[in-house]
Order: sequence, then structure tokens, then C-alpha cells
Amino acid sequence: MTTEADLDTAEQAIVETVRDFVDRDVRPVVRQLEHDNTYPEALIEQMKQLGIFGLAVPEPYGDVQVSAPCYALVTEELARGWMSLAGAMGGHTVVAKLLSAYGTEEQKQRYLPRMATGELRATMALTEPGGGSDLQAMRTVAAPADGNGDSSAGYVLNGAKTWISNARRAGLVAVLCKTDPAAEPAHRGISVLLVEKDTPGFSVSRDLPKLGYKGVESCELTFDDCRVPCDALLGGVEGKGFGQMMRGLEVGRIQVAARATGVARAAFDDALRYAQERESFGVPIWQHQSVGNHLAEMGTKLTAARQLLLHAARRYDSGQRADMEAGMAKLFCSETAMEIALNAVRVHGGYGYSTEFDVERYFRDAPLMIVGEGTNEIQRNVIVSQLVARDGL
Ligand SMILES: Cc1cc2nc3c(=O)[nH]c(=O)nc-3n(C[C@H](O)[C@H](O)[C@H](O)COP(=O)(O)OP(=O)(O)OC[C@H]3O[C@@H](n4cnc5c(N)ncnc54)[C@H](O)[C@@H]3O)c2cc1C
Repeated sequence: MTTEADLDTAEQAIVETVRDFVDRDVRPVVRQLEHDNTYPEALIEQMKQLGIFGLAVPEPYGDVQVSAPCYALVTEELARGWMSLAGAMGGHTVVAKLLSAYGTEEQKQRYLPRMATGELRATMALTEPGGGSDLQAMRTVAAPADGNGDSSAGYVLNGAKTWISNARRAGLVAVLCKTDPAAEPAHRGISVLLVEKDTPGFSVSRDLPKLGYKGVESCELTFDDCRVPCDALLGGVEGKGFGQMMRGLEVGRIQVAARATGVARAAFDDALRYAQERESFGVPIWQHQSVGNHLAEMGTKLTAARQLLLHAARRYDSGQRADMEAGMAKLFCSETAMEIALNAVRVHGGYGYSTEFDVERYFRDAPLMIVGEGTNEIQRNVIVSQLVARDGL
């Protein structure tokens, strides 16, 4: 299926390079890596060489920052090969956007050039064991280190985060926490702290077992009297973290929508091919109306999903508020990916249930996009409140 983005020639070449990488180097090895739950060290190294980790880093800190539609299509290609590879750049991208938009010049200089090459990889830590949807109820607190309310001596961070992707490989974690737990409304007391790996008091306490998204770790983090300097505060101003992260999550949700579209496309491509090769009752199975109807629905919804994804990406690039568009894309693309993955299992019959085929992996990977980066129930809340606030599209 061709891409329909209105990309310039240079960006089209980037998407084609990633597509070739996926076909040549990812698809032949993914089943084995996935079933062995092996971290894809060599593939991540190739992604670094291709410059993929720098696609969201602006000049002069990086070499090539691409448009959000290009970034979405690159992500779709990676997820078509293996959703975990696209996952490995999700939180990294959000942190790159946070630093670019809100970081002090010193923070940008310190982190962005190394993030652009992939030498330094970043992740974000929002979710806590007590809940991920109700972020304002978080319990992780950064108190002034001097004990007298003056944060110029830095902060002491205490709390726990869970489900944090790439946590063992990340050299930098953007931690959402409360610098003023008594603030009303609560979001005014929330900040982002940039915590570096190996900071005393910070530990990755457990790897979480999971249904899919194999190979890349999801972990619990513990902050136990973790001392961070005052210049770890994103942008140098307390109480701005919630708003900063909400803007960061716009690109995060576009990224998750793109991951879902990639999984949906892989499932659709496999089903379409299989339906032409497999015969029953003397004809290729696509000629049975029930199977043909599945394929027609799958192709239609996949095309619609990509359009919604690109619509959200263009809106993000316009600089306007894009939470509704990103939410719609994330909601529709992820529900579509789940449906297409299930129908790909149906089209494959018994082989759809076989671990010797790829469709069972799509079926295990798809639900993550329904839950991650804010559940689809939360997306509906965001969408309806914006529909009312904007009084129409
Ligand atoms: C593999 C994986 C990777 C992840 N990676 C990261 C990461 O890198 N960083 C990070 O910070 N988080 C990460 N997450 C966490 C993810 O963002 C959360 O799981 C998600 O936001 C939901 O939070 P929760 O699990 O605490 O569910 P809860 O918040 O407890 O929600 C439980 C259920 O209640 C519903 N619900 C809750 N509140 C409402 C409401 N107001 N209206 C309607 N329904 C509601 C939810 O939709 C859900 O169905 C990851 C999760 C997974 C599974």
C-alpha cells in the first residue's frame, strides 16, 4: 500500500530507507528475537547509524529534524517490521520534544546532541503503581534538598514509577513529579525532573513480564532519597511540568497511533497475501465472500487510520493545540489495529494461531496501543472535552 503523505523528496527518501531496512534486516529475524525475548542490540545499532533517534531533534543539536508526518511514517515502517523497534524510540522522542520546546540552553546542549545520535537514549516516567490515568494524584515528590524550601541546592526525589519502557537502556529519564504536593489545583505543583542513569538513590527495581512488546524492557523504577541538582528541573521553572508533558504527549500519542498503523499494515499485508495463496473449494480463499469482505473492511479501515494519523501529525506541526487530533488518531488507529490483527488471525485459519507465523505477534502487540500513552477511555475524555471547548471540528 502506498503512502499518501505530502512529503518532500528528501523525506520520502528517509521513509524508503527505513522501509528497506525493515524488509532487509528486520523481518527475517524478528520472529526469533521476539520469541526469545531478546533485546535487539544489532537492530538498534543500525537504527542509530540510520539517524532514526535524531529525527525529532532540531538543528543545531541534531542533523536532520523531519516533519511530524515523516516521523509518523518512519514509525509506521518500523512497527510494520516489529512494534518493539518503534517502541524503543517512543519515550525518546517525547523527551527530545520536551527538551527542544522547554529546556534551558544548557539542558539542550547537554542532552540533545547525544540523543540525536542515539548514544544517549531517553525515556519518560509518568505512570505510578497507584495509577497512570489520574496523573495529578501521583505520589512521587521532589522536595528541596536544603529542607528550608529553597531548591537552589537541588531536590530529594522519593517515589516509584512503573511500566517505564526502555528503562534499563535509557541514560536519561524525564520524571513527572510533585515539587509542591499541596498545590491547588494539583497540576500547578507538578514538574519534570531530568534524572540521569546512575544517580545515587535511583534504581530500576524490576522488569515486568508482558503479553507482547517483547525484547524491549518495561520496568519499575524506585527513587529513594535520590538527590538531583536544581538544574535538572526542565526549563528551570517549577509547576510547569504537567502542561509541558501534555504537549509532549501529543507527539507521544501520534507515535503510538503510528505504531498501531504499522502493526495493522503488517497484519493486513500478510492476510492479503495469504488469501491469494491459500485455496479451498477450488478457489483462492479471498474469492469466498466472507473472506473478501474481511479484507475489504481491513483495507478500508487501514487507509482511514493512516489519514487520521497524518491529519494529527500535520496539526501538530502547525503549532496549534493537537491533543484532540492526536487523541482521535491514537484511539482510531489502535482500535483498528486490534480489529485488523484479529481478522488476520481469522483469514489465516489455524495458521493464524501458530507461532510459526507472524500474525499471532500482531495480535499480542496490538492491545498495547489501546492502553499505552493514556488509555483509549482517557482519549475519549480528551476528545469530548475539546469537542465542547472548540464547539465543533
Ligand atoms: C508495555 C507498557 C509500556 C508502558 N510504557 C510507559 C512508559 O514508558 N512511561 C510511562 O509513564 N507509562 C508507561 N506505560 C503505562 C501506561 O501509560 C498506563 O498503563 C496507562 O496510562 C494506564 O494507567 P494504569 O495502568 O495505571 O491504569 P488505570 O489508570 O488504573 O486505569 C484502569 C482502567 O480504568 C480506566 N479509567 C481510569 N480513569 C478513567 C477515567 N477518568 N475515565 C474513564 N476511564 C478511566 C482506564 O481507561 C482503564 O481501563 C506503559 C504501559 C505498558 C503496558
